[in-house]
Amino acid sequence: MRQIQMVDTRTQYHHIKNEVDKAVLDVLESSAFINGKPVQDFAANLSAYLGVNHTIPCANGTDALQIAMMALGLEPGDEVITPSFTYIATTEVIALLRLKPVFVEVDPKTFCIDPAAIEKAITPRTRAIVPVHLYGHAAPMEEIMAIAAKHNLFVVEDNAQAIGCDYTFSDGSKKKTGTIGHIGCTSFYPSKNLGAFGDGGAMFTNDADLAVKLRMIANHGQQKRYYHDTVGCNSRLDTIQAAILDIKLKHLDEYIVRRRRAADYYDQAFAGLAGVTVPYRADYCTHVFHQYTLILQDADRDGLSAWLAEKQVPSMIYYPVPAHKQKMFEQFGTASQVMPVTDWLTSRVISLPIHTELDEEQLAWITQNVIAYLNK
Ligand SMILES: *Cc1c(COP(=O)(O)O)cnc(C)c1O
Repeated sequence: MRQIQMVDTRTQYHHIKNEVDKAVLDVLESSAFINGKPVQDFAANLSAYLGVNHTIPCANGTDALQIAMMALGLEPGDEVITPSFTYIATTEVIALLRLKPVFVEVDPKTFCIDPAAIEKAITPRTRAIVPVHLYGHAAPMEEIMAIAAKHNLFVVEDNAQAIGCDYTFSDGSKKKTGTIGHIGCTSFYPSKNLGAFGDGGAMFTNDADLAVKLRMIANHGQQKRYYHDTVGCNSRLDTIQAAILDIKLKHLDEYIVRRRRAADYYDQAFAGLAGVTVPYRADYCTHVFHQYTLILQDADRDGLSAWLAEKQVPSMIYYPVPAHKQKMFEQFGTASQVMPVTDWLTSRVISLPIHTELDEEQLAWITQNVIAYLNK
């Protein structure tokens, strides 16, 4: 059996090696390492894939979130509502910009921000909501957009884990996640569903004015070279990464199918197994399974993880400490906030290997060993 990994980017590369190698060599030959043609080509192709008017590439997903927040023209102390149960990048940029992160609960089924909790957290200082499509499952965007419209708030989607996820509205219309809020952000970190061979990120919007601002901020606040109208930063997607991503974009739908197939295998194997909850799939979206995350009702999580490790099966805890308890937010005094759902999930989730290259033999081995431990 091939060694099981949380993500197997190397085998995935081997399937498209000829195409990728040629694209990289073409960039080396052109020597247009910064803002070469593949950057614009990839942005245009990604816009077409997502059905969005503007894609602004940048250096990584954290920058995308930061630049998005800078483009909204918020004032220090303005409040931004976000889940505590997320990767730190979502929340960190809020504090970095001297805004105030307001942490709210997630829905224990979807792992995504709870609209009722958003409503309760709104104050006169609230300016924006940052939902996260965690593990590849969409946050309830229709409800979130309705709350935002009612209270005149911006919505910045953190789509780093859910690129390609389809969202269906109650009238039957569909949109891709990341194109529903005022701005969507994503990451092309190698292990993401659309991963580069290094760092990368992008922002999406249908608003032409916001697109201009995002582009300017990512480029030292300039539109015309050497004329800097606003304080920005330097955040670019390398041409080599764009050339690779443009090839991988053509495979994204197939990659999603493969991830979903692995998830289906897990779901079937664990059906009826006492003590675990398999990932929930809401009717309104197509889960793209960036992670396959179980909730253990009362099984010993460290014990399961050690048992699996002995059998050469890796597992991970995403995330062991929720944002509101991180030391970096000490100044906001959020550690004492009562967040039972977040705390409950934090102590009970465990993610199994999921990627595009898992075969039946590996899946059988993983599930067999999970089941053996839970039936012990
Ligand atoms: C990966 C990730 C990011 C940050 O992306 P980087 O490219 O690593 O900066 C932000 N939010 C979430 C939810 C992520 O998973």
